[in-house]
Amino acid sequence: MGKKRMTESTYRIQGATGEWEVVIGLEVHAQVTSNAKLFSGAATAFGAEPNTQVSLVDAAMPGMLPVPNRECIRQAVRTGMAIEAQINKWSRFDRKNYFYADLPQGYQISQLYHPIVGEGQIEIVLDEKNPDSSTKVIGVERIHVEQDAGKLMHDQHPTSSYVDLNRSGVALMEIVSKPDMRSPAEAGAYLSKLRTILRYVGSCDGNMDQGSMRADVNVSVRKPGEEFGTRTETKNVNSVRFVMAVVEHEANRQVDVLEAGGKIVQETRLYDPDRNETRSMRSKEDAHDYRYFPDPDLLPLVLDDAFLDECRASLPELPDVKRKRYEQALGLSAYNAATLTADADTARWFETLVAEAARIQGKSESDVAKASANWLLSELYGALNRLGKTLETSPVGPTDGAELLALVADGTISGTIAKQVFEIMLETGDKPGKIVEEKGLKQTSDTGAIEAAVATVLANNADKVEQYRGGKEALFGFFVGQTMKAMQGKANPQVVNELVKKALAG
Ligand code: ADP
Ligand code: MG
Repeated sequence: MGKKRMTESTYRIQGATGEWEVVIGLEVHAQVTSNAKLFSGAATAFGAEPNTQVSLVDAAMPGMLPVPNRECIRQAVRTGMAIEAQINKWSRFDRKNYFYADLPQGYQISQLYHPIVGEGQIEIVLDEKNPDSSTKVIGVERIHVEQDAGKLMHDQHPTSSYVDLNRSGVALMEIVSKPDMRSPAEAGAYLSKLRTILRYVGSCDGNMDQGSMRADVNVSVRKPGEEFGTRTETKNVNSVRFVMAVVEHEANRQVDVLEAGGKIVQETRLYDPDRNETRSMRSKEDAHDYRYFPDPDLLPLVLDDAFLDECRASLPELPDVKRKRYEQALGLSAYNAATLTADADTARWFETLVAEAARIQGKSESDVAKASANWLLSELYGALNRLGKTLETSPVGPTDGAELLALVADGTISGTIAKQVFEIMLETGDKPGKIVEEKGLKQTSDTGAIEAAVATVLANNADKVEQYRGGKEALFGFFVGQTMKAMQGKANPQVVNELVKKALAG
């Protein structure tokens, strides 16, 4: 724990009567990574043909009984542990009753009164460039598990609507934050960080464009220091950028209403990304509208210590801990550590690179970490961006990357040549050692050859030699550059420096 530091946000909206502060709470629905649904054995694969993953339970055939999927429960518990939350060893499922064509049961099995996970917390970074000194802790109220609904399709036929029940009964975690965020940036940072954690834990794939994660965005405004204002809730927002846009738009709309003497009504709104605006959908319903009651088909969920121990033991190193370790044990800058740990796959790639680089060079990981990080974040990322690829589809893997770094570290090739070798690796997929060998790219410290090159450069630039000797010392770099060029980049830069110096002095 010990995460108490709060940085006051200075995000304010200027109204005619003064400044307004924005208050935000997010309810995030995250689809649990599991092979089967929450209460049935039907598959959960994304993109399957409509209604091919529907069991009798999901279709709500009379007499069917739900059976909780242990893996879904386990993933929710592991997620709770990852945000340092209270895990409730006793929880219970409730029925939330409502009628809609995508809900065959006529109720959703959820957890209102006794959620499986209680209060927790998520630390967000407010200044990307300075991740050590600008953090804020956002409280999490609870996480409960519940069933997803089916999907209505209104655009398949001119006069009919269809329903796809593949998603019906899929397990969701609803992760409810406290109203602790105060700006669009904080809301965006919270959602990104939550996604990072879920992907580390492996409890949700975080694919927002496939609907694996969607946020209900609660927004209210108040004069700083006053009580919370009435909030609106904008449903099913499916990207970080959209969440930030909703907060910004909705807060400004509310300020306009209030400044004009109006009142905010508690309501559910919809976001239209094409027009970047929210629209009223319905007035807010209260818990009693749903006639919640304990689901009589399900026993309370009781977790024993062995189960909890297994959940805890199965957690990976989490992003905050990893980031600190990259800084403290590997000596990376705070910014690089934050960048490399923002995604579980990136961190894994980096760790393989470092381990391989250390192994090949016979050095410790901390000795090779900085060069590895710099190469990954500048050279490799630059190339991947250019090629429209990601680490996952990278033509160069961490082992070949490590070999390239080793060739530079032991002086076989210069940094300049390394860039050329890397380009060839990207194109051909060949190993760096083989490329260096075949193309004769080894760096030379052969003083005879370098001396000859220096002599030619000086002879061809007699005027500049004159100027240099007359005091224009900045020309030194020019001679070094020309010599390197004459040596096709293969000369050892240190030797070139020395020999140029010697020749100019002579
Ligand atoms: P309900 O039970 O009506 O769904 P909750 O108390 O569970 O309401 O809150 C739902 C979400 O709304 C939470 O994420 C919470 O942080 C947020 N929230 C509550 N009050 C406010 C407010 N005044 N302004 C902004 N967000 C709020
Ligand atoms: Mg709620």
